[in-house]
Amino acid sequence: MSPVAPGRLSGFGTSIFAEVTADAIRHEAINLGQGFPSFDGPENVRRSAADAILGGRNQYAPLAGERVLREAVAAWMRRTQEVEVDAETEVTIVAGATAGLVDALLGLVHHGDEVIIVEPAYDAYEPAIVMAGAVPVRISPARPGYRLTEAVIEAAVSAKTRFILVNSPNNPTGRIYDEDEWDAIESAARRHDLIVLSDEVYERLAFDPARHQCPLGRPGLRDRTVTISSIGKTFSLTGWKIGWTVACPGISRRIREAHQFTIYSVATPLQIGAATALGCTDESIERFQAEYRTRRDLLFEGLEQVGLRPIMPEGTFFMLADIQQLGVDDDRSFCRRLIEEVGVAAIPCSAFTQGGDSGPVRFAFCHGEATLREAVRRLESVHKILA
Ligand code: PMP
Ligand code: GLN
Repeated sequence: MSPVAPGRLSGFGTSIFAEVTADAIRHEAINLGQGFPSFDGPENVRRSAADAILGGRNQYAPLAGERVLREAVAAWMRRTQEVEVDAETEVTIVAGATAGLVDALLGLVHHGDEVIIVEPAYDAYEPAIVMAGAVPVRISPARPGYRLTEAVIEAAVSAKTRFILVNSPNNPTGRIYDEDEWDAIESAARRHDLIVLSDEVYERLAFDPARHQCPLGRPGLRDRTVTISSIGKTFSLTGWKIGWTVACPGISRRIREAHQFTIYSVATPLQIGAATALGCTDESIERFQAEYRTRRDLLFEGLEQVGLRPIMPEGTFFMLADIQQLGVDDDRSFCRRLIEEVGVAAIPCSAFTQGGDSGPVRFAFCHGEATLREAVRRLESVHKILA
């Protein structure tokens, strides 16, 4: 067999985000597809990383991460979630949430373990599980509410299930799990002795900030949860790829076993900058949330006006438009035409499901008001591709 024959990840194709961004550039469309802000994070944070580079902080960091950042993560968890964690044994600095998830899976999985993931599921989850030698098992809460129930989880549990991977605030639905949903997750996790992998990269992008719950704060989940987050979304620094995992010492040991042989340690000066970011004031977080509320409302109103049936998100910087209700049954071709004929890029949600069934489309609103207004203006002509 040729050494370049399709590998075990070839079936996953090309990242939909990369594809849509390339198409958007080619057609000079406004890119509300791939979710990265069109503005940079706080100047003092960037300056702090620049100072670290010029000030001689350019060699390997300790494997688990710079102490100053691990302590900043522990203080952040206390301040934002009222969760006490030990910086020494429970916090590991990783190369963004994506690498945190991969390290957790590589360190914890035994060959053939099953990992439950919730559709629509972020595109990196399934390949990461496959890379770790585990088996993804998808569950699909009913649309359009996407509420997670114990019955839906239970139906997917087998003797091989060892993990459930959840994401709240959720990309792409914009949902934030409520108390009942966390109860369902906790109950299934305890009954079947599962580890909860909790992707919380949108933790501060919650329009009712009290709504986001970190499962580590639940006594019943404290020793069976890996919280995974990063500075990318909260501080508009997605290109830094600085994140963390937080878990009890036993689980963290396994994560570090993987981390030492995947990345070993993460960019030192950016860790210093990330520690500055996490030390920000409560007021700056509130300002950030208020700015996002304005952007969300602007896009919601705009999509409603042009007849695209937006669904109001509870968190994240994503908004779904329920084009199925408008009779669209191929979200991919809709998004292609949207780029080419309307000049706006969005993500087809079929990319987040295994069967690839057509679904809603996702618009990102991590952009300036002028950009969002121009996108809405262009979308006034969307009727020509709905006809
Ligand atoms: N999880 C989700 C749900 C995401 O939307 C993203 C997108 N950035 C990530 C993880 C990746 O985060 P990071 O860039 O920190 O790896
Ligand atoms: N998380 C971002 C999104 O969902 C982008 C991630 C990526 O480009 N891989 O759009």
